[in-house]
Amino acid sequence: MKVAVVGGGINGICCAWELADRGHAVDLYERGELMGETSAASSKLLHGGLRYLEYGEFRLVREALQERHWWLQAAPELTRSLRILLPVYAGQGARPRWQLRLGLLFYDLLAGRRRLGWHRWLSASAALEAAPGLKAEGLRGAFAYYDGQMDDRALGLWAAEQARAAGVMVHEQTPVERVSTGGELYVAGEARVYDRVINVAGPWVGALMDASDLQPRYRIRAVRGSHLLFEQPPAAPMMLQHPDDGRVVFVLPWQGGMLLGTTEVAQSIDEPPVCTDEERDYLLAVYNRYLTPALGPEDISGSFAGLRPLPDDGHASTRASREYEVERLDRLIGVYGGKWTTARALARRVAEMV
Ligand SMILES: Cc1cc2nc3c(=O)[nH]c(=O)nc-3n(C[C@H](O)[C@H](O)[C@H](O)COP(=O)(O)OP(=O)(O)OC[C@H]3O[C@@H](n4cnc5c(N)ncnc54)[C@H](O)[C@@H]3O)c2cc1C
Repeated sequence: MKVAVVGGGINGICCAWELADRGHAVDLYERGELMGETSAASSKLLHGGLRYLEYGEFRLVREALQERHWWLQAAPELTRSLRILLPVYAGQGARPRWQLRLGLLFYDLLAGRRRLGWHRWLSASAALEAAPGLKAEGLRGAFAYYDGQMDDRALGLWAAEQARAAGVMVHEQTPVERVSTGGELYVAGEARVYDRVINVAGPWVGALMDASDLQPRYRIRAVRGSHLLFEQPPAAPMMLQHPDDGRVVFVLPWQGGMLLGTTEVAQSIDEPPVCTDEERDYLLAVYNRYLTPALGPEDISGSFAGLRPLPDDGHASTRASREYEVERLDRLIGVYGGKWTTARALARRVAEMV
């Protein structure tokens, strides 16, 4: 079949790759550069998403843990396994220790043979030795668990190379103006006709449907996530629980320095995502709550932000599902949501629908 894929983020690239592998003739359309948007603004984690267990998303977590393993095996030069510390303090309200232990046990069990290592409990002194900057007062100890880290942009471009090698024709700097349920796609005012068109434009999937006068069943809620960058590396990779809202914030080594993030703020898809001063202060506050020496705005070497494409299921953004939905309208297939780690699983589902 002749198939067009709209959107050159990780989900579009993996859809194109999977379809070409199954023998279809695939054109991939990207309005800018491949991996130029959300997929290069992630927290760089190949993960099952430990916190999604709180919302009972076992299927998603299990699938993501299998996929995590695949990426780590397939591209070892762009990925690695990380031991992440989760410090526990006395009186810390968000989640009791038993709940964290149970969550980590589930996480290890759901990974099955693809587990990167069993989680462990470290005493306070062992935690301080592993992460010397942690504040000692009230520290009970820390859980240590494992997840994957990637260079998201480079790994996505690697996947695009595999897609090209499988026969995908990539068209960058080529915005798709509208699509139809009959397999048409318009570029520079001209129609091109396909057996199937896949709209996998991430946060902009709904915008393309609107421009095409189509009413999809699902909507996207765009939720901005911002990260701060620092030149000095962290004492250890860590997951911190925000003392006020219980959200988790990651402190990760990144390109010789440190990455701190992320936030969740609803915003319009029409504006470029930028880290605000409020988000900066929120992230600095959670870091300074647990770690010394304290960091201030003057220590920040950069920041970046992206828009999560979350299928709108009526929940608050922190609780909104990280699952994806796929809808077929005759020859047009729309993809709503989808994490970085699960892009290949999403692509298999789309290919089966094609
Ligand atoms: C702050 C943050 C942290 C995250 N951290 C993680 C993480 O650590 N691990 C994880 O697994 N997931 C993470 N995610 C989720 C993950 O990054 C995204 O869900 C995923 O990258 C979405 O990929 P996508 O291909 O659907 O969208 P995008 O990467 O946004 O790609 C969509 C593409 O479509 C193009 N496009 C749009 N309209 C058109 C058009 N009309 N014509 C042609 N092209 C068009 C855009 O230019 C864009 O390149 C994070 C997300 C955010 C925002």
